[in-house]
Amino acid sequence: MRIVVPVKHVPDIHSDRTFTDEGRVARGADDGTLNELDENAIEAALQLVEGLDEAERAVSEVVAVTVGPPEADAALRKAFQLGVDRAVRLTDDALAGSDVFGTAKAIAAVVRTIAADGQVDLVITGMAALDGLASVIPALVSSELGLPQLTLATRLSVEHGQVEIVRDLDGVTEVLSAPAPAVVSVTDHLNTPRYPNFKLIMAARTKEITVWDLSDVGLEPSQVGAAGARTAVLSSAPRPPRADVQLVTDKGEGGLALADYLIRNDLV
Ligand SMILES: Cc1cc2nc3c(=O)[nH]c(=O)nc-3n(C[C@H](O)[C@H](O)[C@H](O)COP(=O)(O)OP(=O)(O)OC[C@H]3O[C@@H](n4cnc5c(N)ncnc54)[C@H](O)[C@@H]3O)c2cc1C
Repeated sequence: MRIVVPVKHVPDIHSDRTFTDEGRVARGADDGTLNELDENAIEAALQLVEGLDEAERAVSEVVAVTVGPPEADAALRKAFQLGVDRAVRLTDDALAGSDVFGTAKAIAAVVRTIAADGQVDLVITGMAALDGLASVIPALVSSELGLPQLTLATRLSVEHGQVEIVRDLDGVTEVLSAPAPAVVSVTDHLNTPRYPNFKLIMAARTKEITVWDLSDVGLEPSQVGAAGARTAVLSSAPRPPRADVQLVTDKGEGGLALADYLIRNDLV
């Protein structure tokens, strides 16, 4: 089984975020990390391979893929620490300013290139990138690849080439299935990502990352980046500090003060 896991390098969500003059997220060289929700996607891929018999496992691989500048290697190194077999970074000056459509086109082109030397059975993504929070890349990638999409999985299994997920929606639980190859996005309820072990942490430092540019994956500069973008950030500004903060010190009647606040502000 061959599984590709697109992973995103995102700014540390606990850091103060700023924007460039063009309205883009300012990305420092050192403050980025693997998008936390992508750890669930990696874990799902590793568990599927670990569940195979020995012969199938021997010919299986999990490939982490990122689209981004050299700093994005930090996300791939973390993916290696968790246990992926291979890592690919697509990078090109022309990718700067890509919107969700350009990013999805780029990820799909990498998947197609990997599939050129053997079928990719599954593309497993996280449910959102914690910086952009568009949650739309999995759907766009499946559309680019012409593959079925099974999104927001809280359970995932693959039997005899059939992919099945459970999807918990508001008051409804859906069971969906599609033939592989398919694109699956997983929630953080699917599993608990493993901690990297010492051996993998050490090995991850020196593992080779394959670096491709647009010509390696058959894309033209006009299809991605600012040139191919269908959306634009018109403006961006830091959120103003909250003016109406009311701190209640609980001396035994904090609950009453809270209830009073909710009633006064028509919040019940
Ligand atoms: C080089 C580059 C430059 C960009 N420049 C701009 C810009 O100037 N202005 C702007 O508005 N946007 C820009 N973007 C797009 C922006 O980063 C979006 O956040 C991105 O398109 C994906 O949307 P999202 O992060 O909300 O993903 P979501 O749809 O929330 O992510 C869902 C899942 O998709 C996968 N995924 C998402 N992004 C990537 C990725 N890059 N590589 C691998 N897997 C991924 C992950 O598995 C993730 O969990 C750029 C993107 C790239 C790659």
